[in-house]
Amino acid sequence: MNKLRIAIQKSGRLYEDSVKLLSECGIDLRNVKDRLKTESDNFPLEVFFLRDDDIPQYVEDGVADIGIVGQNVLFEKNKHIEVVEELGFGKCRLSIAVPRGQQYEGVTSLQGKRIATSYPFLVTSYLKQYNIEADIHEISGSVEIAPGIGLADVVADLVSSGSTLFMNGLKEVETILKSQAVLVKNKQLKEEQLILLNKLLFRIRAVKKAKRNKYVLMNAPNDQLEKIISLLPGMKSPSVLPLAESGWSSIHSVLSEDEFWDKIEQLKAAGAQGILVVPIEKMIV
Ligand code: ATP
Ligand code: ZN
Repeated sequence: MNKLRIAIQKSGRLYEDSVKLLSECGIDLRNVKDRLKTESDNFPLEVFFLRDDDIPQYVEDGVADIGIVGQNVLFEKNKHIEVVEELGFGKCRLSIAVPRGQQYEGVTSLQGKRIATSYPFLVTSYLKQYNIEADIHEISGSVEIAPGIGLADVVADLVSSGSTLFMNGLKEVETILKSQAVLVKNKQLKEEQLILLNKLLFRIRAVKKAKRNKYVLMNAPNDQLEKIISLLPGMKSPSVLPLAESGWSSIHSVLSEDEFWDKIEQLKAAGAQGILVVPIEKMIV
């Protein structure tokens, strides 16, 4: 039977979220512990577990049809593959950091410096925009210790909270790239694979949308209904059900994360009581 082959990280920062995403899409994976490859019993999907750095190449070569990889790795590898969807996890940035005591007056301060990084292509392209020439030292891990051991003057590394940089006496001075995990695809997928990819994408989008929204239920006196309903968007319009106590109704609606707290305050002010907020598992519009 026709299968879609997906490459995900074998272990590391993207592994758990990648497997979780598939699971939230209703795709059960057999013995994930094997960690080489596995398949699903309830979706025609074969999963390859690889180092994240190798995923763009595997997808370009068509060994895997699709993959989940950070934009940082995707752009560094610069392969001919397409981004299908941003996945909202694995968020980080590729930044330049200098020793805290060192004076820094903008990118020109990087001229002639030794920069340690695992992202030589991205760093070189970034500096080129400013006509800066630096001496790039490519190292594959523990980049943040390079200045401390005299290997480099400056680093370009992935940062999320910044605590690793801080602990190594470094300060972040420039952001080269903001990154998150993306779903990528081979450029020449066959029709059958495209159909399966669209099926998977439909589920991914429903999961993503659900995460951005909450189901809210509240009670309100009937004389306030009109005002409260005007505050609620809902998927079409809110549902209103009579309560056992006369003169009162229960209102159900969906609120998005962005407007959530503002709306809750307005609803309370308008007379809503007993507001319940419930997570949504899937949302199909
Ligand atoms: P592999 O063994 O697969 O090569 P790795 O050591 O290169 O693993 P990880 O540290 O597991 O990679 O990071 C995988 C990806 O997670 C990164 O490429 C990046 O997209 C994302 N990421 C998110 N936050 C961070 C962070 N603070 N530091 C590093 N990577 C991060
Ligand atoms: Zn890696």
